[in-house]
Amino acid sequence: MSNAQGRPTSIGDSSKHHKPTFTGNRGLQMEEPLIFEYGRPEVSGVDLAEPEPFKMRLNGLHRQEAIGLPGLSEPEAMRHYVRLSQKNYSIDAGLYPLGSCTMKHNPRLNEAMARLPGFADVHPLQPLQSVQGALELIQDLSHWLMALTGMAAVALSPKAGAHGEACGMMAIKAAIAARGEAETRKIVLVPESAHGTNPATAALIGFTVRAVPAGPDGIVSTKAVADLLGPDVAAIMLTNPNTCGLFEREIIEIAQKVHEAGAYFYCDGANFNALVGKVRPGDLGVDAMHINLHKTFSTPHGGGGPGAGPVVLSQRLAAFAPVPFVRADSDGLHLVEDARGTQAFGRMTAFHGQMGMFVRALSYILSHGADGLQQACEDAVLNANYIKACLSDVMSMPFGERHCLHEVLFDDEWLKGTGLTTLDFAKAMIDEGYHPMTVYFPLVVHGAMLIEPTETESLASLNLFIATLRDLAFAAKNGEQDRFISAPHYAPRRRLDETGAARNPVLRWSPPKALTGERV
Ligand SMILES: *Cc1c(COP(=O)(O)O)cnc(C)c1O
Repeated sequence: MSNAQGRPTSIGDSSKHHKPTFTGNRGLQMEEPLIFEYGRPEVSGVDLAEPEPFKMRLNGLHRQEAIGLPGLSEPEAMRHYVRLSQKNYSIDAGLYPLGSCTMKHNPRLNEAMARLPGFADVHPLQPLQSVQGALELIQDLSHWLMALTGMAAVALSPKAGAHGEACGMMAIKAAIAARGEAETRKIVLVPESAHGTNPATAALIGFTVRAVPAGPDGIVSTKAVADLLGPDVAAIMLTNPNTCGLFEREIIEIAQKVHEAGAYFYCDGANFNALVGKVRPGDLGVDAMHINLHKTFSTPHGGGGPGAGPVVLSQRLAAFAPVPFVRADSDGLHLVEDARGTQAFGRMTAFHGQMGMFVRALSYILSHGADGLQQACEDAVLNANYIKACLSDVMSMPFGERHCLHEVLFDDEWLKGTGLTTLDFAKAMIDEGYHPMTVYFPLVVHGAMLIEPTETESLASLNLFIATLRDLAFAAKNGEQDRFISAPHYAPRRRLDETGAARNPVLRWSPPKALTGERV
């Protein structure tokens, strides 16, 4: 936050240990105003010639006021964006233990491959004969994804996990409509522990969501599902491994019951990194599952994109996959773009999906090979269990008696009597230079702390992380409240009004009159 002159307000003057500085900067931690506060409308980074005299032909509809865009010199613009970029915490900067999100290292080999001009510079409207290599890459990636999951088809175009959920559920909806049951099968079963995108997807596609209660052991029981099944149920959306980091042990029986009831089995495969090379979802009875390339296959998580969430489909759903898809003919590879004459439900994206992500994911797969993928999966599970074992004497776990898979779930039982919450603990981690773990999710566990180290952390890195959490846990139990209550002390901002930001978001900056005079 800063005022109109670009001077930081007191929100930035955070540390009780230090006097506020004149600039508001703290060492190399720079305050950064909005570009609108920083730029001046009369400044331009480029010199434009005065236009020749001309006659306006917009019939009086042209803009009457100054547009008020901020102008900056080239070095000012450069510094603004570089400073903003440095405010991001990223997997390239440190350990990012965000459970369920799988923040693993993005190998630089993938980046080098994605920058090859033959991949980086292709245009989606290029003649097919000139992009045969790109189509072959799409086919190879499809082959790997189908082989690793044991499924019959894959739709590559969805652009995120949640988009993939929509794709899979639309295929299910199309299959149900083709059976003439569109009017009767309207219910989708979603366990209470599911990621919020699952019920949101089902509702968006027009289904009614019915919650499946989680059992005391953190998994969904066949009985709980069977009790809710009936001729009105279209599908179940089940996450495996689930968001408690546990393998759904009854998944095969659940799939059988779901199929017997005439419904489809959607699996949320966001956590496929804990299964790849070990279990094929197709063998479990799954009909549709999205894969987050940015989780399992190490493509970068961007600020909202570009992501990729391919969906694998069983034989029962394959025909309903959206266009486009690649087909091999005697004269080369073709893209089937026209849904007419097929059972495809339509298309998910304007073009073919995120080519750059396909290249990165295939690079990751090929550089690991089948055995390497299996090893990565085993190491991810080993690392999570190592953290579990090293913290089990100081932090409480709801399902501690079972080994976890790729992530370990703690609750806030161990904070009882300290006056501190999960949030306080997470904020204190920021002072120690760690991005907090996932907190308060899954909802089925009180004060949840979900830690996913991934396979890419070294033993030394894990040990430092564990030592830090142990130190914080002892401090919490020894009444060192100051370390927590007002944390983070060293971050650019301290506790934010997150509820206010969600309920009354200020999405538009309006210029103070002093900046633009009467023109606004
Ligand atoms: C990440 C995640 C999603 C959503 O994936 P996006 O790519 O973020 O849209 C869905 N379900 C689970 C369990 C996840 O972890």
